[in-house]
Amino acid sequence: MEKKERKCSVEGCGAEAVHELSYVDAKALETKAGLKLVVYRARPPRRPGIVYLCSTHYKLWKKVTKSERRARDLARRSG
Ligand SMILES: [Zn+2]
Repeated sequence: MEKKERKCSVEGCGAEAVHELSYVDAKALETKAGLKLVVYRARPPRRPGIVYLCSTHYKLWKKVTKSERRARDLARRSG
């Protein structure tokens, strides 16, 4: 019987995943944090795929995307 364990998609991590994200969003971990992600179920161009994150990397993801979101908000406000 096949058991599907969800592990963190960050290469070299392997911790238990607690969050599922679209690769479109999770990509920030690669571009901003310099991590490498293993993407599941990707079928370009319609499906970017998904990644799983452990709590540590999910926190990191929130951190790296926070400033991006804030910058976007500021741009919208001034524009
Ligand atoms: Zn992780």
